[in-house]
Amino acid sequence: MPENPAAPRGTQDILPPESEDWNELEGRIHALARRFGYGEIRTPAFESTELFVRGVGETTDIVEKEMYTFKDKGGRSLTLRPEWTAAVVRAALEHHLLTQGPLRLYYIGPIFRYERPQRGRYRQSHQFGVECFGYAGPEADLEVISMAWELVRGYEVSDAALNINSIGDETCRPRYRDALLAHFRPYLSTLSEDSRRRLERNPLRLLDSKDPADRPYIESAPTFESMLCDACKEHFETLKSYLELAKIPYVVNPRIVRGLDYYGRTVFEITSSLLGAQSALCGGGRYDGLVRELGGPDVPAVGFALGMERFLMILRALGDRAQPRRGLQAIALGTQARVALAPLIAELRRKLDVPTYADYEERKLLAHLKIADRNRARYALILGSQELAAGELLLRDLETRSDRRLPFDSARVLIDTLVEAGI
Ligand code: AMP
Repeated sequence: MPENPAAPRGTQDILPPESEDWNELEGRIHALARRFGYGEIRTPAFESTELFVRGVGETTDIVEKEMYTFKDKGGRSLTLRPEWTAAVVRAALEHHLLTQGPLRLYYIGPIFRYERPQRGRYRQSHQFGVECFGYAGPEADLEVISMAWELVRGYEVSDAALNINSIGDETCRPRYRDALLAHFRPYLSTLSEDSRRRLERNPLRLLDSKDPADRPYIESAPTFESMLCDACKEHFETLKSYLELAKIPYVVNPRIVRGLDYYGRTVFEITSSLLGAQSALCGGGRYDGLVRELGGPDVPAVGFALGMERFLMILRALGDRAQPRRGLQAIALGTQARVALAPLIAELRRKLDVPTYADYEERKLLAHLKIADRNRARYALILGSQELAAGELLLRDLETRSDRRLPFDSARVLIDTLVEAGI
């Protein structure tokens, strides 16, 4: 026997009933985005490789090691989207969306990164993210942070922590860079290989290294907050006061630098202890230089991306998300009953919001009820020869195990009864 093909390593199938959780989360995200005035963008799953090299940055983990890059039959180098921001900026420029003033976009969809798979880390994962273009002030930072926070708060994720930091701008970053170089250089031979390689090109990246070899030197590194220029300091202080007014709790964490090159000033992460080693749920920040870097005008921007798999892991850890029973299982016993029930099933599916499940095989009642249980149906609607003769239907509440009889010829009465019963 040939072996069954399996899904590629680091990818997952999303199956019912779990796909219901995805739909529910996506529904809430669409509603949240609508309330904040964001419009949805969908971009291709692949783009030219060049876009991500320029838009994410050559010294990042993503570009150095994680991209799914391939040549198509025409010899073009293409890459499966490893993150959304560069693609969103590309689309905004291509369609001249940034010439019309501020722009607010959000997205939901997959990203692809060649990472070592583990709990909470996959090679295809999904992100919800937002991008707010056109505002340089901290009000926009507050707006996007509030969106992520609202989603987390709406699900009562009480252990979520918002970490914020500022990584300055062109005025103060060179100074901080020098301070970091001076700090790390004496330990060069003991740093991890990645950090040794990155030190001269991008010393800030050393701060988010997870390698234990780097940890002691990271802990003793100078913080950016102490070296911000006046304008960056004011931006950061104002954001903090806005967060306090909005009652969004935060901690300043000097180790948050974000992996992407074009971030500046505000950077933030939302973490949850329920996630274990991969504790970051959401990451974002300000990337005022990116639009220009990709050939566009000088447009400030701020955004975030939130990992959907990780969010659903938190929700599952928080409580038993066993689906409540919903809808009804239509059960016909015998050919005559099956014929009689068919139009009623069609009517129920037209009129009810909840599912009407039907099975068309001849089975014993017990076997039908097992199927109803597997479907997590709230009610069984049973038509056997006895009921048929009496012109009735048996409606069994599968939660309370109580029965009631209803006249068969009136679908209206049945639907009213079901609606009344709150299904
Ligand atoms: P990033 O773009 O790396 O800041 O990612 C933003 C968020 O996406 C992270 O905080 C994670 O929740 C999620 N994420 C990123 N990469 C992965 C991955 N390989 N597997 C699962 N989730 C991921």
